Amino acid sequence: MTNTKEVKKDKSMILQKEMIAKQFQDLATAKEQGKKVVYTFVPGNLSELIHAFDMIPVYPEINALQSGMRKKSGAFIKDSEKIGYSEDICTYVKCDVGMMMNGNIGPYGEKIPAPDLLLLSYTGCFTFMKWFENLERIYPGVPVAMLHTPYQEDGKITPEMVTYMVKQLKEDVIPKMEKVSGKKFDETKLKEVLKNARQTQELINQIFQMPKYTPSPIDAYFAGVYYIGPINTGFRGTPEAVEYYTLLLEEINERAKLGLGPVTPEGGMTEEKYRLVVEGPPNWTSFREFWKLFYDMGAVVVASSYTKVGGVYDLGFRHNPDKPLESLAEYCMSCYTNYNLPQRIDLLKKCITEYKADGFLVHSIKSCNSFSAGQLAMMRKIEEDLQIPVGFIESDLVDPRYFSYSNIKNRLESFFQMLEQRKAIMNQN
Ligand code: SF4
Repeated sequence: MTNTKEVKKDKSMILQKEMIAKQFQDLATAKEQGKKVVYTFVPGNLSELIHAFDMIPVYPEINALQSGMRKKSGAFIKDSEKIGYSEDICTYVKCDVGMMMNGNIGPYGEKIPAPDLLLLSYTGCFTFMKWFENLERIYPGVPVAMLHTPYQEDGKITPEMVTYMVKQLKEDVIPKMEKVSGKKFDETKLKEVLKNARQTQELINQIFQMPKYTPSPIDAYFAGVYYIGPINTGFRGTPEAVEYYTLLLEEINERAKLGLGPVTPEGGMTEEKYRLVVEGPPNWTSFREFWKLFYDMGAVVVASSYTKVGGVYDLGFRHNPDKPLESLAEYCMSCYTNYNLPQRIDLLKKCITEYKADGFLVHSIKSCNSFSAGQLAMMRKIEEDLQIPVGFIESDLVDPRYFSYSNIKNRLESFFQMLEQRKAIMNQN
């Protein structure tokens, strides 16, 4: 299905690599440069506020997934289990703790400095709180700022919820950031950062709409996780992010104009046989093998819930520089991890319909309760309402012990057979 002769890196890939390498170098020298370091999470992150104080963000779950891709996570997880972390704890946490036990050397080989502030914007996943309790123990004395995000229980964000969050920002989070950074909060600067964030969100939304073309010029899951890299790793709100996403959109537009399919690690895909929507994060320890199982079968993912983990921009959310704190609050509340089950199902159904998917696949993660809870109910509802084939595979985020290649391959083959049969029936009618 793929052309393996020549695999040339796109300019956007090179640019992203440079951006991330520089970011880790900046982190390694943060203390010498007098920069303060803030540990925080991707869902509901307050990157714009961190930039407004000239501090540098660190995202522990990004370090964990990068360690997984570089085959370092297995040893880190074992080390944390040796000191008592149990088997069923989120493997991002265990990988992160194991990395700290081994000198906190990040996935790129640079030392990640200790935090000056632990900023927990809590959005839906209870593990975030437990994770930060552990970080507090590992880094005693480091101040903790917690922003509590109300869960979207009824699927609505009310004005009272926004007021509640803005109050926390004004009375607790911002004063702590002022103290740690030694700088006064500058609303004008935050507004400037938010302008860049808004532009970036507009661009990434256009990118993830490209599967409206057939063939889809992108894979919105396997390549999608690279596309969300900069926006979710601290570049949102920076001019570099605007530059990167402008370039990426240009490249994808060009592929769409030429009628080309997605780029895979083995070159451009030449035949699109199946269009899928996927729920759940990918496996990182065998990411390439996992992806290959799909592109070898001509399967393209046209939308995925995981690429919305740092913001659901296709439902219209954009940061608003005219209402800076209110829009930070609304951002946190509108994250996928803060959605209730019916909201998640509606979003997935919208993707399946809009991008004309042939099937829906769940990749369930053994140690991620936040994504895995309700996935079977989700599958049943989607199958019932849309009458499309659904499939279920299982592995883990960064624990290599839970990726069974043959098991996943068998299940995927059965799923693709179902898709093939359905296509044959539809062609007869
Ligand atoms: S959302 Fe899943 S992967 Fe992320 S911290 Fe929660 S349990 Fe871990």
